[in-house]
Amino acid sequence: MKKLTRKNLVFLGAPGAGKGTVSNLMLKNYQIAHISTGDILRAEVAKQTPAGKEAEALMKSGQLVPDALVAGMVRSRLAEPDCADGFILDGFPRTVPQAELLEKALEELGTKLDCVVCFDVPDEELIQRLTARMNCRGCDEIYNKIFKKPAREGICDKCGSELYQRADDSLETAKSRLAVFHKQTQPLMDYYTQRGLVFTLPNADHETIMAAIAKELE
Ligand code: AMP
Repeated sequence: MKKLTRKNLVFLGAPGAGKGTVSNLMLKNYQIAHISTGDILRAEVAKQTPAGKEAEALMKSGQLVPDALVAGMVRSRLAEPDCADGFILDGFPRTVPQAELLEKALEELGTKLDCVVCFDVPDEELIQRLTARMNCRGCDEIYNKIFKKPAREGICDKCGSELYQRADDSLETAKSRLAVFHKQTQPLMDYYTQRGLVFTLPNADHETIMAAIAKELE
């Protein structure tokens, strides 16, 4: 497993832009922690914890959960030892206040962000990808009914578990999530550009994306 030189990363991009897929590809090559706030929240909902109950309806409708709730979860996850080798924050921050909370949390941990990796994908393509997306219940591998079909319908190639469609990947909710992204998350592009942290990935095949990552971050 390789280690990155620029290792503390935020993945910034719309839902369906490929943050989860590229994270999974990176985990195969690099020693790095993957922190997906969406995954953490879905696990809380499944367990029906107080945080999960608070988040459930908001997630179903494609709205963001409160900044404080998600920032607290991220802060405690960043303090875990595996994050010392580097981390991918996938889906966090999503608002400017979250970015400020993150900056503070990292400062308290004696570290800082090295790069904000931006995913730039046109809206029409995002809608196509989201509504055809299938996720594995077992290993979190991500498939697509059009572009990346599993060998056997509804079954994960990697671990054999069942594939499912996320409740928020319906057309209606996908559209709301994109609107939320443009309004609340896109301002972070300016925030991080001003700090000189932005690196934009090519909207290309996996091989090209991984080569660009190696060149920029290794
Ligand atoms: P994701 O898997 O990243 O697309 O997240 C799924 C849903 O979880 C989002 O639509 C939000 O409702 C919620 N969520 C995930 N990350 C955040 C965040 N950083 N801030 C607020 N809500 C979030």
